[in-house]
Amino acid sequence: MVAGTDLRRAAEILASSSRAVAFTGAGISAEAGIPTFRGRGGLWETFRPEELATPEAFSRDPRRVWEWYAWRIRKVLSAEPTPAHRVLAEWEAEGRLAGVITQNVDGLHQRAGSRRVVELHGRITQARCTGCYKTLEFEAPPEEVPPRCRDCGSLLRPDVVWFGESLPEVDWRKAAELSRSCDVMIVIGTSAVVYPAAQLPLIAKASGADLIEVNPERTALSKTADVSLRMRASAALTALDKLLRR
Ligand code: NAD
Ligand code: ZN
Repeated sequence: MVAGTDLRRAAEILASSSRAVAFTGAGISAEAGIPTFRGRGGLWETFRPEELATPEAFSRDPRRVWEWYAWRIRKVLSAEPTPAHRVLAEWEAEGRLAGVITQNVDGLHQRAGSRRVVELHGRITQARCTGCYKTLEFEAPPEEVPPRCRDCGSLLRPDVVWFGESLPEVDWRKAAELSRSCDVMIVIGTSAVVYPAAQLPLIAKASGADLIEVNPERTALSKTADVSLRMRASAALTALDKLLRR
């Protein structure tokens, strides 16, 4: 149970902010039915994403990696944005939020209406050719796995950042700039252990921002956060939204 005082304190911080930024992870999409990697009920319990979401796994067994991705693409395509995604989109439209930095690859922020979204880890519904680098968007999970490029016949790969790969430089720069310039960062549904993304809240804090954490479980960031709301994303965001509208 979260003390109402924590919620009120988080709402006060947000109300007096002039440049808030959200930093989100898999937990914000858990209530949309997309499994997280870590945490209770996470994919980690049945698969080891470290053994599938890597360039080595892909060169060893592209079919196995693609079967896992096809399953995840199906989940993403049948999911709907949650109330938490929608509150963030509304806050942006009202000028309360300068943008969203996400580690998620599901595109749910954009589907909820968020416009300033930095996708640090790519997009799962997109693939790119390992031969000619052309990209394509899936409207349905690939029927044949592993899928191949229609133009050059090379293997396609998911257009996401795998463990051990570097982040797209432009996106990283935008995310770092948002983190340095925000006065509040609301960190939602991330275990805060995947680097370099997990550095962003620390950059924000070091630049003087307040940190609000929303996560039902304690994380690596909890000791640094100014307020930790031990709640699910949608319950927390709708409660904060209500308090801000009073
Ligand atoms: P993570 O799986 O490591 O951690 C998920 C966190 O969410 C946990 O701390 C858990 O306690 C919390 N959580 C679970 N349910 C929640 C809820 N209802 N509300 C709020 N929080 C909740 O995820 P991560 O930190 O994003 O890092 C792992 C990597 O996984 C990222 O790089 C991302 O690309 C990838 N990933 C993305 C998706 C997606 O796009 N939806 C899904 C799984 C993994
Ligand atoms: Zn090609």
